[in-house]
Amino acid sequence: MNEKEALRTSDEYREALKKMQPSIIKHQLLQNPYEDEDIQKGMNVVALSYDLARDEKYRDMMTVTSPFTGKVINRFNHISLTREDMRKKQQMIHTLAKEVFCAQRCVGGDALHTLFVGTYKVDKSNNFATDYHERFKKYLKYIQENDISPCGAVTDGKGDRSLAPSEQHEKDSYLHIVRETEEGIYVSGIKIPITMSLYSEEIIVIPGLQYNKDNADCAVAFAVPADTEGVEIYVLGPEIKSLKGKMSPTHGKKYLNKEGMIVFNNVFVPKERVFLCGEFRFAATFANIFANLHRFAYTACKPAVYENMTGAAMLISEYNGTKGEYFLSNNSEKVFEIYKTAITVRGLCKAAIEDAQETESGAMMPDPIFANMGKYISSENFHKAISTLQDMAGGLPPNLPYETLLENKDLRDRMEKLLTRKKGVSIEDQYALNELIRVMVASNEGGLLQFGSKHGGGNKEAEKVAIYGNSLRAMNDCKNCIQRMSQEYK
Ligand SMILES: Cc1cc2nc3c(=O)[nH]c(=O)nc-3n(C[C@H](O)[C@H](O)[C@H](O)COP(=O)(O)OP(=O)(O)OC[C@H]3O[C@@H](n4cnc5c(N)ncnc54)[C@H](O)[C@@H]3O)c2cc1C
Repeated sequence: MNEKEALRTSDEYREALKKMQPSIIKHQLLQNPYEDEDIQKGMNVVALSYDLARDEKYRDMMTVTSPFTGKVINRFNHISLTREDMRKKQQMIHTLAKEVFCAQRCVGGDALHTLFVGTYKVDKSNNFATDYHERFKKYLKYIQENDISPCGAVTDGKGDRSLAPSEQHEKDSYLHIVRETEEGIYVSGIKIPITMSLYSEEIIVIPGLQYNKDNADCAVAFAVPADTEGVEIYVLGPEIKSLKGKMSPTHGKKYLNKEGMIVFNNVFVPKERVFLCGEFRFAATFANIFANLHRFAYTACKPAVYENMTGAAMLISEYNGTKGEYFLSNNSEKVFEIYKTAITVRGLCKAAIEDAQETESGAMMPDPIFANMGKYISSENFHKAISTLQDMAGGLPPNLPYETLLENKDLRDRMEKLLTRKKGVSIEDQYALNELIRVMVASNEGGLLQFGSKHGGGNKEAEKVAIYGNSLRAMNDCKNCIQRMSQEYK
């Protein structure tokens, strides 16, 4: 890094992790977690965001000069202050998602943005008797100066969903303040599943729900280094395996999205890293700001995934000779059915930027109706798109023979009998495309993507509530208009 830039190389990111001593547990405590094959594949995803930031071709999109440090920083750590910032950020997420399906850094970036907007609101409501915003800005500078990629821990374990935190049999289902001292707070509880938590230097915690006075101990926001005493991080998704085949796609072979569960066991957080401490009226504010931002991020990454599915659908039709009309169906129409959601969600992303509002903190917030609708529509149509791609690919993707048989000179002719389709397409290309489709729509890795599309940034009901709540006035106008028209006979 030089005086004008705070941009680490991807190797510097890896080296920084190796200097840490977190408790990361797979089936047992990992002595060298960053040597673990699955974790390294997650690190590769994050590394790409460091590499592209230093690549002239992507520099304008990936970097920005921070108004707080005056240095060029990675855009993931920037607080969008203009519509142009928002546009470039979405372009960055989309570009990365085309390559890795989930860029992973959005959660941490959205948590930074949430704290920037939220802490200002708390201080203002206290007539600036509190200094959360200034504290947070110091933390933000630390993140930007050191080019750290934090993870964002919002979702609590939650226990029995019908009960409030104070009514739970297991108190640690929700992360809460155990005690407060002059120096800081002690916290316990769990957050799950947390993207990037297995290979992040910093954990940012914000409340995931609204809380009343009885649950004020859960209204807490803070940040800690991942190797803080009392923090344990569990590797999740035991069945989501690293792919190793020569023809395995990069998603699975080079890149993997491994989630983590973070357990806080009476963890001490110094005061300067506490950004909300029991002000229960603001828990929902923080949660809603985050949800709005994170669903907005989905309007950038999900079109990329739909575009990848569109490309796979088009190419498999070419390879298999299934383009055009077939009985009562038409392949172009099927491809269109997948692609239409990419266009729709991209449009909603643009609308969310166009109608974005500047907050009192100076940071921009996307329009909540368009941001939530973008996530809602992408989630609604995701499984339909998968179904269409599965239909178009035929039954081969989950039924491929072992790829080494293609190199076996005694058995290669059997593989040719199975895999030869359109003239000119090699059996290797045919195999690799089917394997890519398998990973996208019939694998553990693909399953994680499907769950992410449903639950990431909150579930469908929460999105509907946000859309409905923000649309009520406009919907009432619709009713009043019809009432006026229908009563014109009077
Ligand atoms: C791939 C992936 C990555 C993720 N990454 C992160 C991350 O980085 N950081 C983070 O903080 N979180 C992350 N999450 C968590 C995500 O935000 C949650 O999964 C999401 O908010 C839904 O919460 P839940 O899983 O607890 O499901 P639930 O809230 O239990 O929802 C399951 C179903 O139950 C319903 N339901 C919920 N409560 C009730 C009730 N009281 N009564 C009746 N029905 C109810 C819901 O509507 C839904 O249909 C990730 C999730 C996934 C899948």
